[in-house]
Amino acid sequence: MAYNHLPTEELQALDAAHHMHPFTDGNALNKKGARVITSAKGVTITDSDGKEILDAMAGLWCVNIGYGRDELADVAARQMRQLPYYNTFFQTTHVPAIELAKKLSQLVPGDLNHVFFNGSGSDANDTNIRMVRHYWALKGKPDKKTIIARWNGYHGSTVGAASLGGMKGMHAQGGLPIPDIAHIDQPDWWSEGGEQSPHAFGLERARQLEAKINELGEDKVAAFIAEPIQGAGGVIIPPESYWPEIQRICDKYEILLIADEVICGFGRTGQWFGSQTMGIRPDIMTIAKGLSSGYAPIGGSVVSDEIASVINSGEFNHGYTYSAHPVAAAVALENLRILEEEKIVEHAGKVAAPYLAGKWAELADHPLVGEAKIKGLMGSIALTPDAASRAAFAAGAGVVGLMCRDRCFANGLVMRHVGDRMIISPPLIITHQDIDTLIERATKSLDETYAAVK
Ligand code: PLP
Repeated sequence: MAYNHLPTEELQALDAAHHMHPFTDGNALNKKGARVITSAKGVTITDSDGKEILDAMAGLWCVNIGYGRDELADVAARQMRQLPYYNTFFQTTHVPAIELAKKLSQLVPGDLNHVFFNGSGSDANDTNIRMVRHYWALKGKPDKKTIIARWNGYHGSTVGAASLGGMKGMHAQGGLPIPDIAHIDQPDWWSEGGEQSPHAFGLERARQLEAKINELGEDKVAAFIAEPIQGAGGVIIPPESYWPEIQRICDKYEILLIADEVICGFGRTGQWFGSQTMGIRPDIMTIAKGLSSGYAPIGGSVVSDEIASVINSGEFNHGYTYSAHPVAAAVALENLRILEEEKIVEHAGKVAAPYLAGKWAELADHPLVGEAKIKGLMGSIALTPDAASRAAFAAGAGVVGLMCRDRCFANGLVMRHVGDRMIISPPLIITHQDIDTLIERATKSLDETYAAVK
């Protein structure tokens, strides 16, 4: 690449001049310039100044097998030479699509045996909106089309997916949500639980679903969508009472349950799918990210035998040029082979997670930290000036979190902040030694942040 040898400042200036970034404040970018990442191996990324950083976010929660696996590059090159592109519209198919769909039907629990491929998690959730509404229309219930989701849930950035999401900042830009989407409150006990026990609070939040169904009328509600554990909302691990109650309500009112497994899928929670960890029986699963470990863009909606039999009874007028892209599908298959053969999900759940959980829990003793929560390899800590009252900082939401995030970068650690929660989601291959380094750098960053705010 012609620009490979340009100095960092020049790359940053060119970037700011021509590249529009997702979820980035353009003013800040112009002032400071973007960090230029040039290479990565294992759990470590390297920037254009040669600084090595432990990536405790696995990119954007996606590089499950870690960086630098040549096998995926080799498979991609082979597939590009053999069949770089063909579509799956109009009764055509190709071998990578067939093999990946079959593999997913074996991995995904229950009778979710059919995959509609998409280019990303957002595309997949848009597919879900159209598919569940079309499903009920075909069943003679065209009014059953409202989808209930949650405030502070995240389901992607397309118009449909962002409408499902409960990010008010996203709704404020571009006139969202679209019609027939409703939201209920999230099960975030730390921020919203008040004096209730986590158990009572989990039940109360789940029962908001029942109340919303009754308010709208059960013959108007198509589906409920949620992440088994909210990721972008701040790694919100719901109280144990929450999911069984949600499942009961969906079953009782014949509401399709969509588990958005874009983050939780493919080992993140210590089992193959977050639905297994949280005891959920979904009718549809949204998948992306860990499906290819981020090496190629691909997502999918995995649906039950029942839904597939209804949708496949005619033509579903929906699809993307890159649905089941052969190179992405081949890369995903190779990624799944590595996850399985190297027992990476077992490593995440049985070796890395228990060790990390022990160290993570100790962070709760830090004077800047309230709760420290973790499930598998998804963790969060809540920063607070007073753990006992679960107080917020006077500086305003996110100010201290951002400060801590910047200290982490300076100390060689990618740890993201969501408001004043610090979150991690490292590659699943992380070793005990890497975890020691992560905790050491996180603690140093917390100490420095505390010294600045106390
Ligand atoms: N769903 C969840 C739970 C996500 O976390 C994300 C992305 O972070 C998406 C959907 C959207 O996926 P994508 O960014 O691939 O469109």
